[in-house]
This record gives sequence, structure tokens and C-alpha cells, in this order.
Amino acid sequence: MAVDRYGVMGYPVSHSRSPVIHRLFALQTNQKLQYELLQVTPEKLETAVRQFQRTGGKGLNITVPHKSEVTRLVDHLSERASTAGAVNTLSFRDGEIYGDNTDGYGLLRDLEFNHGLKLEGTSILVLGAGGATRGIIGPLLDKKPASLLIANRTLGKAQALTDHFSRSGPVAACRFNGLPAGEHYDLIINATSAGLHGDSPPYPGTAVSDDTICYDLSYGLKATPFSIWAREQGAERSVMGWGMLVEQAAESFRVWRGVRPDTAAVLKRMNVSA
Ligand code: NDP
Repeated sequence: MAVDRYGVMGYPVSHSRSPVIHRLFALQTNQKLQYELLQVTPEKLETAVRQFQRTGGKGLNITVPHKSEVTRLVDHLSERASTAGAVNTLSFRDGEIYGDNTDGYGLLRDLEFNHGLKLEGTSILVLGAGGATRGIIGPLLDKKPASLLIANRTLGKAQALTDHFSRSGPVAACRFNGLPAGEHYDLIINATSAGLHGDSPPYPGTAVSDDTICYDLSYGLKATPFSIWAREQGAERSVMGWGMLVEQAAESFRVWRGVRPDTAAVLKRMNVSA
């Protein structure tokens, strides 16, 4: 019998640890599947998704920079993907494409369950306004923070997100250099892809106090530029996004296979520091 095929599609994608994680999930839950790394440029996205579907693929993770664009190809959007306007999980069933978004679930599970944080009443600063930010804003606002500010290099994209989410909670937008003076944040989340391209944007040092927790969606075997920056600013804690990566992957795995893997065991097995 043919083995069910899954994969992650992105550009760049060589850094992705998703194949390792899904192989560990499959071993742990006794599922037979294969999981591929698929480097696909934005111009080839539609052709590549349709070809994967045509050749019997069962599901895809969609990563940077395709999460918003891929929504055009989806026949059925889950509520959380529709709220986000971005998709990171595709399922192919009966000739149709189902789109879901597990990023927000993954981040919250890591913040609340793995790191023991309470978000109600906190002030949150999110850096970046791309596909990942789309996925996390709704779930963050559901936790009733006192405020959520989105700072982005391109102001228009952050403003479009605040328009989209303004009915869900207290959300505002600015540029990196436009943060309110003297304001510190309880939680600063780096959701830019700058580190992936070897760039270091002018992260706002004035936003960090010694009570601030800094969370980088990016992750690496060595400390990421943002997590080094956060430590240099004297943040209380500086966390990389390994936990979110494993938690969002586990939720995708559940969507595809109907089984929830034990994420703690996989994080331990990967031997990465949060
Ligand atoms: P997108 O390509 O959709 O968005 C990229 C964002 O980064 C935009 O806001 C862009 O700003 C900003 N950006 C890129 N380069 C720079 C730079 N040099 N200076 C300042 N800002 C910059 O990517 P995603 O939102 O899909 O992903 C963002 C990051 O989050 C990636 O590194 C990805 O790997 C990571 N991620 C991690 C997850 C995890 O599980 N740990 C899950 C999801 C994502 P502008 O709008 O101005 O172009």
C-alpha cells in the first residue's frame, strides 16, 4: 500500500525542522507516512500545490512567505484560518482543498502551557505583520490582553491587520521607530522573518524592561539575533520558537491523522533549548 505523503512548502525552507518533527510524531503514534521539504518560489506556488494534490499528496504545511497567498487556492477554510486570513495547514480530501491555521494554537500552547504565562491584562508588542502574525493575533486577543501593538517595517501592512482585528480587541499599529515613548511591554513577540535573511531590523530597545518576556518565532541551534538582542536589553526571559514549532506541528498532525502526539517527548528528543 502507498504511504501517505505530506510536506512543508516555503521559500526559503531548508532551515525547516518540520520533517524531523513529523517523523518523530509518526514513530510515536505508529502512523505510516512520509514528509518532504518542498522549496517553492511565490510564482510557482499554485502549480506546486496542485501538482502535490494531483499526485495523491494528503497534506501540506505552508510556511514563509506563502501563508496569505495560499488562501486563494483553498475550497474550505476553517474558522481559525478564516479569522486569520492565512493558512499553514492544507488537507487534500475528495478532490478538495481544506485550509486551517495552527500557528495561534501552537504559540498559545507554548506560552501558557510550556512556559506558564498568563496573558490577560498584559501589554503585548508584536514585531512583523506577515502570515505568521495573521495567525497569532486573533488567539492572542482572545486572551484579553490590556493592549496589543503591531510594529512593522511597512506600516500599511500593520494597519491592514489592525483594521481586520479591531473588533476582536485593543489592537494598534506603528512603525519600528514609532513606538510610544517610555512604554514597556510585558511580552514582545518577534514575528519578522528578518533573521532568516540574515538581517537585523532596528528592534525597539526602549520597549524592553527587566520584566519583559521576549519570544522569537524564529529558532535556531544557536541563539537567534533577536534572542541575543533581547538578552542584551536585559529582558527577564528570552525564548526561541521551538516550542511553538512543535505545538503547531502537533496540531497539524492531529488535523491530518486524528491523533495528538506527545509534544513534550518530541521537544526533549530534539534536544533544543527553548
Ligand atoms: P512573511 O514573509 O509572511 O512576513 C515577514 C515579516 O517580516 C513581514 O512583516 C516583513 O515586513 C518582516 N521583515 C522581513 N524582513 C525584514 C527586515 N529585514 N526588517 C524588518 N522586517 C522584516 O513571513 P511569516 O509571517 O510567515 O513568518 C515570519 C517568521 O516567523 C519566519 O521567520 C518564520 O520562520 C517564523 N515562524 C515560526 C513559527 C514557529 O512555529 N516557531 C511559525 C510561523 C512562523 P514587511 O511587511 O515590511 O515586508
